Amino acid sequence: MDTIIKNTDVHLINTYKRYPVAFDRGEGVYLYDTNSKRYLDFGGGIAVCALGYSNDTYKDSLKRQIDKGMHFSNYFYSEPLKEAAENVTRITGMDKVFFCNSGSEANEGALKLARKYAIVNGHEHRHEIVSMDKAFHGRSMGALSVTGTKKYREPYEPMLAGVHFATYNDLDSVKELVNDNTYAIIVEALQGEGGIYPAEPEFIQGIRKICDERDIIMICDEVQCGMGRTGKMFAFEHYGIRPDIMTMAKGIGAGITVGAFAAPKQVADCMVPGDHGTTFGGNPLAMAAVNATISEFERLKLVAHAAEIGEYLGEQLQGLVEKKDVCVATRGLGLMRGLELSEEVAPYVNAALERGLVLMAAGANVIRFVPPLVIEKEHVDEMTRILDEVLV
Ligand SMILES: *Cc1c(COP(=O)(O)O)cnc(C)c1O
Repeated sequence: MDTIIKNTDVHLINTYKRYPVAFDRGEGVYLYDTNSKRYLDFGGGIAVCALGYSNDTYKDSLKRQIDKGMHFSNYFYSEPLKEAAENVTRITGMDKVFFCNSGSEANEGALKLARKYAIVNGHEHRHEIVSMDKAFHGRSMGALSVTGTKKYREPYEPMLAGVHFATYNDLDSVKELVNDNTYAIIVEALQGEGGIYPAEPEFIQGIRKICDERDIIMICDEVQCGMGRTGKMFAFEHYGIRPDIMTMAKGIGAGITVGAFAAPKQVADCMVPGDHGTTFGGNPLAMAAVNATISEFERLKLVAHAAEIGEYLGEQLQGLVEKKDVCVATRGLGLMRGLELSEEVAPYVNAALERGLVLMAAGANVIRFVPPLVIEKEHVDEMTRILDEVLV
């Protein structure tokens, strides 16, 4: 393991502070490192591995597709692409979808579609976007331009012009920034990277109302909080609203790289051939992953399962908040939860890792819990036991 770590660091551009563990394989909700040490996984590869690591149905459909072909190009049709388009429009309730390869790309496409909608609807002059502080929408220049965290953006300025940041859960701060040049408001119904902050209903419903009144596109970034994660298929469903464009990635391919944005017909149809594209997006291997993921979600009733186990996880975390001085608060929905500490979480995350528990941070002071959705109560108990030992 030491050789893997050392030689990787020699040759890889140094953009990550990695933990000193090299994983070899996964099984269920457990990971094994190259020394065969076992870890209970509450990170899920950052909310990606919704089905855990050894779902046979999922693996078999991918293997079958590998035998047939992994890539044909977007100038042609394929059965897996047709099926994925049917599946994703069904679970989102949207009319049309575009497949790409990541969350950043999904948000790039969403921004372009929103801009195109403004142009097609007689608002050519509209070039401003409202986003939120602590928002995370990705690392490419467009997605980064609407990401709230200053230290991610500043080295790369100038960014996309016309982006304004409101305060999350403060509707008045949004109203102050919206004007006749605004073409989109982009928001996560439950902020992930920013520290696991769920939207207040009045906030997100208020944004919906502003967008309706002024013909502004509301973009919901469901890259992390979507795909059953919060106990609903998509997090905006908790609030009784629907966005004009939604973006997805992380959980939608359950481990294969897939991103997507989807919209109702009157928005989606603003794009015509030539307006947007991708070489890899929608390839049959990725689409087989989407189709297998969605059919396993339905067979295993994973959304209801995430709601049930998530409730239990919330109770256990609340127990820690009451018991441990270092725990300040717990927040979240379903199997997307945070535990805020009064100090930096890194030493605790490291200590948990040594005891065979994978946790993730969301900002400096918040431990994030985004396990595979197939997790059971006994795993929550195992995690709570280890965390109880680790926290002072
Ligand atoms: C992870 C994430 C992204 C970026 O996704 P990538 O696949 O890393 O490009 C965008 N939005 C949200 C909410 C995310 O959590």
